[in-house]
Amino acid sequence: MTHKKLLDKYGSPAYVYDLGQLRRAQQTLWNTLPANSVLFYSIKANPHAYVVRYLFDLGCNIEVSSIGELRIALDAGVDPFKCLFTGPGKTNDDILEAMECGVSFFSAESIAELRLIDTFAGEQSFPIKVLLRVNADVSPNNIGLAMMGVSSQFGIDYSQVLAEKESLRSLSSMVQVVGFHFYMASNIQAVSDLLKCFSASLDCAAELSVCLNMTPEWINLGGGFGHPYANNEDLPALEGLAQGLDALTAGYIKKTGNRPLFAFESGRYLVGASGKLLMSVQEVKQSKDVQYVVVDSGINHLGGMAGLRRIPNYIPEISNPEKPVPGNVCESTICGPLCTPLDVLSRKATLPSPERGDCLAISNVGAYGLTGSLIGFLSHPCPVEIIVDGEQVVEVTQLELNRKKIKQYEYATGERTTV
Ligand SMILES: *Cc1c(COP(=O)(O)O)cnc(C)c1O
Repeated sequence: MTHKKLLDKYGSPAYVYDLGQLRRAQQTLWNTLPANSVLFYSIKANPHAYVVRYLFDLGCNIEVSSIGELRIALDAGVDPFKCLFTGPGKTNDDILEAMECGVSFFSAESIAELRLIDTFAGEQSFPIKVLLRVNADVSPNNIGLAMMGVSSQFGIDYSQVLAEKESLRSLSSMVQVVGFHFYMASNIQAVSDLLKCFSASLDCAAELSVCLNMTPEWINLGGGFGHPYANNEDLPALEGLAQGLDALTAGYIKKTGNRPLFAFESGRYLVGASGKLLMSVQEVKQSKDVQYVVVDSGINHLGGMAGLRRIPNYIPEISNPEKPVPGNVCESTICGPLCTPLDVLSRKATLPSPERGDCLAISNVGAYGLTGSLIGFLSHPCPVEIIVDGEQVVEVTQLELNRKKIKQYEYATGERTTV
């Protein structure tokens, strides 16, 4: 079915996710990982239940960072035993509910959190495994979004881990610190930079093992596998990564005599290429010397993370898949339907004679697309989300934001309550 037909049939705008692209990305990444590896899908990149379940079925474990993400994964049929609960600021309820759902694997972001996990672990009938998320003392100079080696809200500084050696010994028998978790940076483009990060993390793991006198069962090397966003580039080939990782992990095993499981995490690399945003031109209008193409999707559906000014400012490549031959190409400003001048997708798009009803597309937005955006702003409906496998439509859904009354509030009287 053409893009235009998908929109005509199911509604516009639409995110389309292709399972074939998920398979390709998962295979490519998996093929670079060394022996004894486990690959986690970080579902914050795209928490669509079908996508989560599909990657789980392809062999990925699941990394969740909130109770909401955990519920999505479990409702999709993911085995709680294959989930890793990460992320800063876990609440008592997060930890307790996760354990009650059967999650037994956590990454502790602080010593206080480790103690909290220990407290609740006592109430469970199964042992709880914990990774210490460590902020190593080396910094991956200017690589991606650095989260390690610099002061950070993530993890425990290396020196602090050493200082807390005794606390690690005083945990209850229900909690076992089984290894370390590193996450140096996100969206690293060069394979050489990825390898530098993994190498630094392995060195740190080796030093910590000696200092703490422990043999890690797990070393979670994180990820940071880069992926293009909102343009037409191909899936990065990750050339040389497999050989590099083999050499690094073999070196680690030789040096330490220890043969742990190596965990890797990825969000954007696994799902980025699978997703396209399709939208319809509502209006073409001229103001002074600028041609405006108003579409039915904007920053409420795409690119919200860029608003945080932490990811590189992006200019989506917008194309019209139905009019591939440039006709009367003119430069346009493509804007969404939101009542703010900030709702501009591109100021220099070249589209062949745009007109009302045209279908436009933005590729490589399977990661940090819809749920990375401002979906509540202006209360437009969310795009429909269409799962396809090549030509076949597999599932069509639409996310809704709903307001609910909370049960602590007494409705029966119909009166306002005072605190
Ligand atoms: C966000 C995150 C990921 C996924 O990052 P991508 O850049 O999407 O691959 C993995 N691990 C941790 C700890 C994260 O916070």
